[in-house]
Amino acid sequence: METILLLAHPEPDGTLSKAAREALAAAVALARDLPDTSLAIGLVAVANAQAAADSIAGCGAARFLAVIGDDFATARYSTDAAAAEALARAAGATLVLAPGTSRWARCLPGVAQGISQRAGRPWFILLDPGTAEPWQGEPGHTAVEQVPVPIDDRLRRTTFAGWRAPRTDQQTIRPDADLLFVAGAGWTKKQADGQTHLADAAGLILDFLQVAQASLGGSKSLVDLSGEGQAVLPFMTHLNQVGQTGSTPRHPKGLSTCCHGEEPHVVGWRFINQRRAINLDPNCGWAHGKADVLYVADAFTVMEQLITLMARERLAVAH
Ligand SMILES: Cc1cc2nc3c(=O)[nH]c(=O)nc-3n(C[C@H](O)[C@H](O)[C@H](O)COP(=O)(O)OP(=O)(O)OC[C@H]3O[C@@H](n4cnc5c(N)ncnc54)[C@H](O)[C@@H]3O)c2cc1C
Repeated sequence: METILLLAHPEPDGTLSKAAREALAAAVALARDLPDTSLAIGLVAVANAQAAADSIAGCGAARFLAVIGDDFATARYSTDAAAAEALARAAGATLVLAPGTSRWARCLPGVAQGISQRAGRPWFILLDPGTAEPWQGEPGHTAVEQVPVPIDDRLRRTTFAGWRAPRTDQQTIRPDADLLFVAGAGWTKKQADGQTHLADAAGLILDFLQVAQASLGGSKSLVDLSGEGQAVLPFMTHLNQVGQTGSTPRHPKGLSTCCHGEEPHVVGWRFINQRRAINLDPNCGWAHGKADVLYVADAFTVMEQLITLMARERLAVAH
């Protein structure tokens, strides 16, 4: 008999994030496909666990468990781990699933270690966002069983000091965006007139991100330039780098600009479904089967026209 426990942190308003619903969909499918298996939901919340449970009442879970309290408002290893352990024990879980968010990724390895030394089970699996379709179904009313967790001052030694986040107009990485927009080193190179056009490049890239609400990726060559403190695209950091030594983002579509499309870069595109590229070079890497469509054109001109068209379209929709 397997008991799958799906862990999730509801949002303050009682909704569940897309990543949580994706992990739920995977847990529901697993519970359906494995013989003799039941599903339990474990919510770690400040409040509103009931609303979160009701919103997924139709998922077929046999039990809805919740750990509730102010101690769980923000990520903290000690209290998150204590909550996960209490829920795993209360559910009698043999398999624990959670969305692969930084918060769960930080505490579950410790919880798994503690328990596996004794019994070997449960197994813990973190599901990367984007690997499953989010669960959809009817809300309803559920009976939430509250699980007590003894939190003492030792577990409260780490305290939450505050948020430090980039200004919202500098927030260029948007994991939920429909489009990945990649900028390559070509944006910083001398153009047909023999000059570089960094200010134009920065303006076009930021304007496009704004109008398309796209997520910004970069090639290694471009982010290395920025990291070396040169006066190039100041909003570009190593966090934007896509590729073998960078990230492997998941978006339905990708548009590459001024990037050659070499293998160490394109390997980071393996979860991007529809791929297009703009490059002056008809023989660039994208032309060798790595893009669905390659526009052999000047990215400065194409992006300028694209932004104008998209902005006009948005204006028309707004009216
Ligand atoms: C071990 C190892 C790991 C690596 N890991 C990564 C990684 O994780 N990610 C990564 O990106 N790279 C990685 N690289 C580097 C990779 O091999 C390439 O060097 C890098 O991707 C090249 O970046 P780029 O295409 O932006 O620059 P370039 O090769 O300089 O290409 C610039 C492109 O811009 C085009 N261009 C210029 N002006 C315009 C214009 N006006 N309009 C349209 N096109 C224009 C040019 O035609 C050219 O194709 C790695 C390399 C190694 C050896």
